[in-house]
Amino acid sequence: MNNLPSSITLCEVGLRDGLQNEKTLLPTQEKVSLLRGLIDAGFKVIEVGSFMHPKAVPQMADTDEVYKAIGDVPGVELRALIPNLRGVQRAVDCGCKKVKLNVSASRQHNLKNLNMTPEESVAGFAGCVQAAKENGIAISGSISMPFASPWEGRTPVEDVDSIIQAYLDVGITEISLSDASGMAIPNQVYQLCTHVREKYPEATWWLHFHNTRGLAMANILAAMEAGMTQFDSSFGGLGGCPFVPGAAGNISTEDVLNLCDESNIETGVDIVKVMELSKRLRSLLDHDLDSYILRAGRAKDLILSNH
Ligand code: ZN
Repeated sequence: MNNLPSSITLCEVGLRDGLQNEKTLLPTQEKVSLLRGLIDAGFKVIEVGSFMHPKAVPQMADTDEVYKAIGDVPGVELRALIPNLRGVQRAVDCGCKKVKLNVSASRQHNLKNLNMTPEESVAGFAGCVQAAKENGIAISGSISMPFASPWEGRTPVEDVDSIIQAYLDVGITEISLSDASGMAIPNQVYQLCTHVREKYPEATWWLHFHNTRGLAMANILAAMEAGMTQFDSSFGGLGGCPFVPGAAGNISTEDVLNLCDESNIETGVDIVKVMELSKRLRSLLDHDLDSYILRAGRAKDLILSNH
């Protein structure tokens, strides 16, 4: 591979995408402590939580408190997922400076859940964009299942295009492509990433891969080859997806860091510190985590320990 970037940016999403799928509710101070650890490990972008209704996602009910406890951290973007305008208001109230909206690229999924087409959902975000701008909050948008969904199979590129256009129309130019169903395959990832980069030069992109079928790392490499440099990952590979049967978590952060360290791709994140945090997480949650590096350690540590 000769098209790999010299550096990438990772957004750690375990505190949101990971913990929201756990039965164990971590105390707020434990979340704050893990967040401090992630900042100390070098992350410049972290998804802290979400402002969903506490009844719908009780694991994230204290996101406001986590923001208040951590305060402003210069040089680090602490983002939260929001469902609607109420989410922007909660962000304002607790000092959150970056929010992310989400829409499903699956027409059937969106119609079934929200009785709207994906484009109608995105057009409805205009009020959120306005409120965010008035309050100095940066806003981004995510498209889940732009590669494939359990409802329709492969997602037509035209559908992804019209959702991207809807985001651009409401003034959102930072867009995440989220393979929540873990159905993406590398050649498709390469094609879609190449396509969107060429067609929408005004946009910036994040890629979010779940490792449900073991292809997340290959998909990251395919996206890198297509010029993408911003990726979500989750320490310990924590996570799942409530509406996708058998869904695994995001690709594990330490596995991505290992690939990058061994391939001379700069991340600015200390893998040893992340491994320590993942071990702590494993004991807090009291179950095994889906992370190769956590199970096997780094290759270089293995070599050293045999001497
Ligand atoms: Zn996810």
